[in-house]
Amino acid sequence: SKFGKVRTCNVVPAPDRGQAECNIAVLGITGSGKSALTVKFLTKRFISEYDPNLEDTYTSEEIVDQQPVLVKLMDTADQDGPVNCQRYVTWATAFLVVYSIDNRRSFEGCQQYLDAVRLHTRGIQPKPVLILVGNKLDMERYRQVSKSDGADLAARYSCLFFEVSACLDFGSVQNMFHEAVREARRA
Ligand code: GDP
Ligand code: MG
Repeated sequence: SKFGKVRTCNVVPAPDRGQAECNIAVLGITGSGKSALTVKFLTKRFISEYDPNLEDTYTSEEIVDQQPVLVKLMDTADQDGPVNCQRYVTWATAFLVVYSIDNRRSFEGCQQYLDAVRLHTRGIQPKPVLILVGNKLDMERYRQVSKSDGADLAARYSCLFFEVSACLDFGSVQNMFHEAVREARRA
């Protein structure tokens, strides 16, 4: 026949070459805990000392709602805010913008990142997923940013909002990254 030799057809699913991927960039000023959150998600551990200038991208095979996804995480290390943001704005489908609840300045820094992402992804469909993250929830005693201030900023940029800690439970950090995947799937 025109198909050549007829083969028996095994009912074995073909390997999934089009595996779903989700690229997530972790943004925010130095010291907000981007690397600690990234490492926590990847290893379930809190690493307290991490080179503040180190920027790297990691991959992790995750199962989110019973569906596999290859999560790529860019743990950024901007030296001067989001001035050279091309490398991540054109790459990521989701952005976690991190501040530390015990540092007002880190919160103020978030607005620049939110604006930069907005500006550079204007008109792009699907819209990027934006998540505002108040980290260091274990530092409640030294809180400088109220939960409602965080929620208000998130509402202004229509992003999700989480308060977490890189040194407390793994589940809430994992859930936050998984929410980024869920939102990206919905987009
Ligand atoms: P990055 O510059 O945003 O990557 O911040 P790092 O992840 O390097 O963290 C900066 C500092 O904050 C380090 O001394 C970390 O140990 C500390 N840190 C990070 N996350 C937390 C947290 O959730 N709670 C507390 N108490 N310290 C944290
Ligand atoms: Mg870092």
